[in-house]
Amino acid sequence: MEKFTNKYLTANKERRASVLLNNPKTLWINTGTLCNITCNNCYIFSSPKNDDLIYFQDKFLIKYLKEIKSLNWPIEEIGFTGGEPFLNKEVLIMSERALKENYRVLILTNAMQPMQRSGIKKGLIQLHKMYGDNLKLRVSIDHYKMEKHDEVRGRGSFSKTIEGMKWLMEQGIKTSVAGRNIWNIEEDVSRKGYEKLFSDYNIKIDAFDKSETILFPEMNEQNIEVPEITTKCWSILGKDPSSIMCSNSRMVIHRKDEKKPKVVACTLLPYEKEFELGDNLKASENRVYLNHPHCAKFCVLGGASCS
Ligand code: SF4
Ligand code: SF4
Repeated sequence: MEKFTNKYLTANKERRASVLLNNPKTLWINTGTLCNITCNNCYIFSSPKNDDLIYFQDKFLIKYLKEIKSLNWPIEEIGFTGGEPFLNKEVLIMSERALKENYRVLILTNAMQPMQRSGIKKGLIQLHKMYGDNLKLRVSIDHYKMEKHDEVRGRGSFSKTIEGMKWLMEQGIKTSVAGRNIWNIEEDVSRKGYEKLFSDYNIKIDAFDKSETILFPEMNEQNIEVPEITTKCWSILGKDPSSIMCSNSRMVIHRKDEKKPKVVACTLLPYEKEFELGDNLKASENRVYLNHPHCAKFCVLGGASCS
């Protein structure tokens, strides 16, 4: 049997590890896969043309927020991810809706043109005024050096993102940074690089605080010779299933040509049908079997997390 072909058993016929949703703290909304740029390592393959996941609509968010309440899920945060969330015309309406209901809101963005439009800026200022630090943005800066960042994101993207970051700092909007370790730089070296970058541009973010500067492992599909995770791995690796993203979060997506959004196990596998858990949150309480190389490579062995 090939690896990652049987939901319940590994190629060696051992029981595949699974994760139960036991403490849902974050509901991610995929705002749509369209993006203003095309990064060459985008795990969701976003671009100005990719609309496989269409713009998520506020009318569906209303439904999911109601369901969170009826299920008594302990959700604390609504996260918006894309694509570029600020391309979605309803992102500020949805953010306000969640903030009004006392959730923290986290928006992942590249802080480029879509965020820098005057209507969006006005809306962000207003939300910040009303909800303070309950509104938080996380800006992707892949590398602390312009050349490396632009290598991935396209020429000029570093300067545009820094412009957006500076504006966020001026407004006092709570902001963190997501970096990537695509170049296998040692973490300490990388954090020192970000420290210098932040100091050069007067960006008030602590490069050594892992909640303010989050460094993600490479999300490359190639070289997927990774081991499968069995039920025995938890104790061998000293890893607790409740530390895995799919034990404490879900993401909702809206596929093109589908009438309703669907709930998927996590932010990392939006396209895999096996990780689609139904169209409502109740149905998504099902156990998730770690039947994908990402599960092993990024979550169990790599420590990836979106929150
Ligand atoms: S900015 Fe983000 S969503 Fe857009 S292409 Fe780059 S990595 Fe993907
Ligand atoms: S990729 Fe990670 S979070 Fe997603 S289903 Fe696999 S183990 Fe869970």
